Amino acid sequence: MEQNGYPDSWYAATRRDDPARPELAVSVKRDVCIVGGGFAGLHISRLLAERGLGVAVLERRRIGWGASGRNGGFVSPGYAQRAAPIIARVGETAARALYGLSREGVELVREVALAADPALVMGTGKLTVYRTKQGADFAARTREMAARLGTATEPWSVEQVRAVARTQRYFEASHDPSAFQVHPLNLALALARRIERAGGLVHEGTEAVALIADGAGWRVRTGSGAEISARHVVLAGNADLGGIHGAAARALLPVATYVAVTEPLGSRLAQALTWRGALSDSRRAGDYYRIVDGDRLLWGGRITTDTREPPALRDMMRRDILSVYPQLEDVGITHAWPGVMGYATHMMPHVTCLKDGLWLSSAFGGHGVAQTAAAAIVVAAGIAAGDGRWRMFSPWAVRWAGGPVGRAATQGAYWWMQARDWIDERAA
Ligand SMILES: Cc1cc2nc3c(=O)[nH]c(=O)nc-3n(C[C@H](O)[C@H](O)[C@H](O)COP(=O)(O)OP(=O)(O)OC[C@H]3O[C@@H](n4cnc5c(N)ncnc54)[C@H](O)[C@@H]3O)c2cc1C
Repeated sequence: MEQNGYPDSWYAATRRDDPARPELAVSVKRDVCIVGGGFAGLHISRLLAERGLGVAVLERRRIGWGASGRNGGFVSPGYAQRAAPIIARVGETAARALYGLSREGVELVREVALAADPALVMGTGKLTVYRTKQGADFAARTREMAARLGTATEPWSVEQVRAVARTQRYFEASHDPSAFQVHPLNLALALARRIERAGGLVHEGTEAVALIADGAGWRVRTGSGAEISARHVVLAGNADLGGIHGAAARALLPVATYVAVTEPLGSRLAQALTWRGALSDSRRAGDYYRIVDGDRLLWGGRITTDTREPPALRDMMRRDILSVYPQLEDVGITHAWPGVMGYATHMMPHVTCLKDGLWLSSAFGGHGVAQTAAAAIVVAAGIAAGDGRWRMFSPWAVRWAGGPVGRAATQGAYWWMQARDWIDERAA
């Protein structure tokens, strides 16, 4: 079921009621055409429009329709790939610079959210909890990694964790006080309004169907036949880009994950959770959740390469909540929805200039709310000022993700990791 063109989510139900934006009806010339009205496209467009460039955003459905308008709303530094493989790939200095950029992304999101409406910031801090005991050197290891990457992460003991999350499932945690949470759909709509205020065009119901090289620039043809001619084009369509650029689309694995929101829980909530920031567990396909609306739980979890919505999604999510907090026994679910994340096989974003004037900002996976803003900083600087900082992502190439075989291999790898998590947890 949809609400005004959005999936039936708690975010859509509490969305700011912006009127629909018009389809592109006539051909126009702009400096930059951005394909995709999610955070990746919106942040780049906003930065460029406010620098005085003429931008046009083309969105196939509604602004924030994709992952950006239906995610957990956690804004935190880092990337979908974990720190150790990033350091192993590029060394400590480059990894530190990438983490620094992701923190710039966090601050950019905070700035945009607070300027639009302070109520968009819904909570602060993020706990990453472990489901197995971490050993005596946990605090020292956490502080050491934080120092290497320049992050603010601090260790929490089992007692600290269980004082705010009343479950025997969790042991130690690392706490990131720089993280915060947003209403992601309203943030996407706020970005669109800022683009328009700066003179940018935002078109919904407008699919980019073809990309044509045209002299020193590009033409983007839309479903209605109307075209945008632009010196620069940015592809920011995530896992849904379609045929406009086959190589970029085929370099992504679409991975589904789910979110549910409970009924108001009143005083029962405090029997389970009193932490008002974000919480996720350290498993690869772990749970991620937070309190919204005062006394509801917004609970995300699971991953699968089958992107169809499971028929019994609410029951599935209820079971996940009860497996951590059995005291919430007959908890009711009022909303549940799926979302699709786009992953590269290396699990790092695709942020690059594919050809002169043709840019890609994509593959943020399950960690993209701040990272899309981080990528926007370097891509916008590349377009507006010829800055080369976007090259910090160059070690992670845009490569074919393997099609159906890649999906099957990924699913197999996730099952294997889930099995390992299960065995470790039973042992703990
Ligand atoms: C359920 C869920 C929970 C998540 N939770 C978190 C979280 O808590 N924190 C976090 O950091 N990350 C989270 N993520 C990841 C994060 O949401 C994404 O990484 C990020 O939103 C990606 O933004 P995007 O702009 O690249 O993609 P999208 O938001 O998917 O936007 C792409 C847009 O492009 C449009 N489009 C595609 N092709 C075309 C075309 N040819 N023409 C016109 N339009 C086109 C699509 O319709 C879509 O609206 C989550 C993701 C999901 C699905």
